[in-house]
Amino acid sequence: MDHLTDLITATQATLRRIVDEFSPAVFASSMAAEDMVLTDLILRAALPIGIFTLDTGRLHAETLEMLVRIKETYGYQVTAWQPEPQAVQNYVRQHGLNAFYESVELRHECCRIRKVEPLKRALAGQRAWITGQRRSQSVTRTTLAIQEYDATHGMAKFNPLAEWSEQEVWDYIRARNVPYNPLHDRGYRSIGCEPCTRPVQPGEDVRAGRWWWENPESKECGLHVVDGKLTRIKKTAAAATAGAASESTSNRDKP
Ligand code: SF4
Repeated sequence: MDHLTDLITATQATLRRIVDEFSPAVFASSMAAEDMVLTDLILRAALPIGIFTLDTGRLHAETLEMLVRIKETYGYQVTAWQPEPQAVQNYVRQHGLNAFYESVELRHECCRIRKVEPLKRALAGQRAWITGQRRSQSVTRTTLAIQEYDATHGMAKFNPLAEWSEQEVWDYIRARNVPYNPLHDRGYRSIGCEPCTRPVQPGEDVRAGRWWWENPESKECGLHVVDGKLTRIKKTAAAATAGAASESTSNRDKP
């Protein structure tokens, strides 16, 4: 067997183990390439794992269109969880619609309202949740485990694609004709909210297009917490220097 076949077999085994030992379990999909691999594996095997997405209200039209394409391809309706309208209204009134560009705190607050709180509702009553995270996606994910314990939500968390490379994700998608977000063809290697995501340049980190005005170690949205903390790298002297440089250019880089 080639390496991709091995990975697929191992991932199928992980998904079956989740069903056998951790039901009910749900898969949180952002409908990016990795998430489409897991969607394909779950739905083709008719595994009893619910699939949901966090519809933040700031997603690209192309991402929302994926809900339709998944329904057309697999006959499955992904559940979309939305933020509390009052919380969004309060944030916008108090800080402004795009206040997340102004500070890491305001960015985290926007993510908390539009992602973290809806995630809590989406996970209520579950015993495990699944993500499409991979180790090689960014400096915040290099030690990612296939199985971990999410103390915040009090349940198991699985990252079945932790060991997959980006190339293997695309090899799977092409070999099985899996539908994927057309934003990937326009240079987006990671899919997030429209105002906080941009295409990346060749050689850049996969998640370099997410919150590009921030330092690398602050680039998580609060969804992925390990031991009660956001997964971040330790700040090295080099990172501190880069951070200072980034701060001095942050206004120039803002859209
Ligand atoms: S990614 Fe940006 S728009 Fe989306 S919730 Fe976070 S700060 Fe808000």
